[in-house]
Amino acid sequence: MSKGLTSREEDYSQWYNELVGKADMAEHSAVRGCMVIKPYGYAIWENMQAALDKMFKDTGHSNAYFPLFIPKSFFSKEASHVEGFATECAVVTHYRLKNDGNGNIIVDEDAKLEEELIVRPTSETIIWNTYKGWIQSYRDLPILVNQWANVVRWEMRTRLFLRTAEFLWQEGHTAHASSQEAIEETERMLEVYADFAENWMALPVVRGKKTANERFAGALDTYCIEALMQDGKALQAGTSHFLGQNFAKAFDVKFTSKEGKLDYVWATSWGVSTRLIGALIMAHSDDSGLILPPKLAPIQVVIVPIYRSDEELDKISAIAKELAAELKLKNISVKYDDRDTLRPGFKFAEYEMKGVPVRLAIGGRDLENGTIEIARRDTKEKQTISRDGLVLHIEELLVDIQNSIFKKALNFREENTREANSYEEFKELLDTKAGFISAHWDGTPETEKQIKDETKATIRCIPLNNKLENGHCIVTGNPSTQRVLFARAY
Ligand code: AMP
Repeated sequence: MSKGLTSREEDYSQWYNELVGKADMAEHSAVRGCMVIKPYGYAIWENMQAALDKMFKDTGHSNAYFPLFIPKSFFSKEASHVEGFATECAVVTHYRLKNDGNGNIIVDEDAKLEEELIVRPTSETIIWNTYKGWIQSYRDLPILVNQWANVVRWEMRTRLFLRTAEFLWQEGHTAHASSQEAIEETERMLEVYADFAENWMALPVVRGKKTANERFAGALDTYCIEALMQDGKALQAGTSHFLGQNFAKAFDVKFTSKEGKLDYVWATSWGVSTRLIGALIMAHSDDSGLILPPKLAPIQVVIVPIYRSDEELDKISAIAKELAAELKLKNISVKYDDRDTLRPGFKFAEYEMKGVPVRLAIGGRDLENGTIEIARRDTKEKQTISRDGLVLHIEELLVDIQNSIFKKALNFREENTREANSYEEFKELLDTKAGFISAHWDGTPETEKQIKDETKATIRCIPLNNKLENGHCIVTGNPSTQRVLFARAY
């Protein structure tokens, strides 16, 4: 095995990059800002998709698919939307190449598109243009649609999974007959995301609302889940937007209500992306590699044989295969790694790097004693136990690992959420400890911007479960009624 990882302590971002590579999850591609997701990383995405897709369907949504390209004129219809995305749009202008006669392939200027196409950075405009044809009356509502897709945002500073120019995501786009219904949908989907983060990713999140500055371009309200990474930086893990009637007005989508009145339709949109894989890595992993929550791990249990002769290997294999079959019956994904070209120590290090939650090793002595060595990835604890009752033991262990990495992340977040009561204290906390900082703010975009310019910290959210508390803005001293959550963020 190649040498280990740079430690988190030494260089967190170097640690992250090395880990993504060595765990075989993704790599940079030949295209600036775009990554190749390798099979092991993609398997985690598929597990995320499967869980989320079920949650979307359980809340009444269906999947559909809309085009990759959006005519430029559609984009311009909602003023704040285009303003928000204009600086990061990839634009298609031609549809043909030609040979220039000297053996060079060039763009054929005769094949210029009449109207440029934008590679979707998000699909509200093409979808609301489509919904116009789907909605006439209240009977056509609600529309509860999701699409799994790729989008492109020409980000200048990219990082594998966390921020890429092209990324995979899902985007829900719903249409409703009333404001209240749309707000309920926005909140419901935020809760679906929070549930997924906490119960599948073992990632504790703060549910909140964005300030006006940080709102999605075109939304009246942006709800978000925010998570804390091990280096004390925050990460926006998902967003759910109440879009009001903005897109219905831009695309003239009206419906006749039960009372026979004509009104614009109310909208929501919500999304999570492959960024969640970055969140998973940064929240749980250690200096030996990935730590995966069992519920999302592509391989939950790996079995490694330790043998001196072919005869011994045959005996171990018989036990391993029987055990693997029993585990599969319990829907536990298991791999028996009997590659004879690699030593057990090498395999151990590889599965540690890849974050396989449970490792079983069977050796000669285990054959004699009817035992097996079982090691958990999160704490690295090892135990030799009897093979009787092993499957039940593993089932319980997987649940225990899932719960304990959640608790560990929750403790970390609690220990790293602090109150600041003056701007001095705020700045000192940011520089010495990072983490979430809960502080009073006067509610103005100007003060928020000043804080961001001076400290690089942003308001991550106004927590939904906030208690009201009278205080004074840490910068202007103006009155405030509640604390908001600040952090430096990815
Ligand atoms: P938005 O449409 O801006 O609300 O973003 C929807 C989701 O995609 C959010 O959960 C973001 O965290 C995530 N996201 C936004 N930009 C990127 C990017 N460049 N790479 C990966 N994920 C992103």
